[in-house]
Amino acid sequence: MAGGKSEQYSLFFIRRFKGKVLFNVPMKDYTSFKIGGPADVMAFPKDEGDLKDLVTFAEAKHFQYYILSAGTNILVRDAGMRGIVINMTEGFKDITWTEESKAVVGAGVRLAELCVECRERGLSGVEFSANIPGTVGGAVLMNAGAYGSEMKEVVDGVEFMDAKGRKGFLSNKEIGFKYRSTAIPKGAIITRAHMSFVKSTPDSVGARMNDFREKRKATSKITHPNAGSIFKNPAGKFAGVLIDEAGLKGEQIGKAKISEIHGNYIVNLGGAKAKDVLQLMALVRDNVYGTTGVTLEPEIKVVGED
Ligand SMILES: Cc1cc2nc3c(=O)[nH]c(=O)nc-3n(C[C@H](O)[C@H](O)[C@H](O)COP(=O)(O)OP(=O)(O)OC[C@H]3O[C@@H](n4cnc5c(N)ncnc54)[C@H](O)[C@@H]3O)c2cc1C
Repeated sequence: MAGGKSEQYSLFFIRRFKGKVLFNVPMKDYTSFKIGGPADVMAFPKDEGDLKDLVTFAEAKHFQYYILSAGTNILVRDAGMRGIVINMTEGFKDITWTEESKAVVGAGVRLAELCVECRERGLSGVEFSANIPGTVGGAVLMNAGAYGSEMKEVVDGVEFMDAKGRKGFLSNKEIGFKYRSTAIPKGAIITRAHMSFVKSTPDSVGARMNDFREKRKATSKITHPNAGSIFKNPAGKFAGVLIDEAGLKGEQIGKAKISEIHGNYIVNLGGAKAKDVLQLMALVRDNVYGTTGVTLEPEIKVVGED
């Protein structure tokens, strides 16, 4: 980071910012893949005031920013990330019940925590997400889903902040949910999700969570760091099956390996580089296209510099 920029960052963070700030942070410590070069700055806004100060500072200084939550769906390249990484996991952790089956849920709330609360209240809707390791913010942005259910079905709308520090609201329709993606504008930071659930009982909600846990038995045996499914499932097919049929399970480049347990998982055997993972992804795309004519699209977000 250039000295001038560093000074400007320091002044801002010392004078105004209430949350934690880290400089020159290895992104591998903030991603489930355990891969990624350093981020210049990582700031953890405590609340909306902090977030507004941060984005307006970035806008005024022409610094780029990137929104990070639990880091379970991203691959950070080896030279890391310039500008400010806004880490949403230390603020926005509130759950406010507005009706018996409706809540406004902070973007930094972990899906697992939300599931515990829903189970205790006997509310159905998010059981599918009990074992997805992300946050509500990341899950809405990705339209996370499993076993035929997805965030789209439980989210009425989101509160967000734009790059100028203005607050806004997007309804379910405006979010533009699609398979593992949304039309949420780039740079918009989800702060809270308005969610609706269906009245059920704690036993029934708990039983559904256990069923889903059973279905995950195979992938739960994957112990090396990973980012979940690497590719989206093409219409009517499973990416993992196509990868398996192309004979690619177990392929390895550097310390990155296509899992022997699930073809759509790439695991970090320890010290893998983003470039190893990207080469494996290219190998998979070429081979699956060559054998089936299907082009696989990445589900994970690849960010940062080479
Ligand atoms: C073992 C494992 C299993 C998984 N299983 C599933 C599964 O079954 N189904 C599934 O869909 N996914 C699955 N995932 C992927 C991942 O957990 C989900 O996509 C999750 O919802 C991402 O949340 P996150 O907080 O980690 O987001 P991050 O990885 O931090 O971010 C993901 C994207 O969302 C953006 N983002 C994050 N927070 C915000 C915010 N507040 N506002 C605006 N943008 C934001 C980021 O910029 C990035 O583009 C799995 C991952 C792992 C490691």
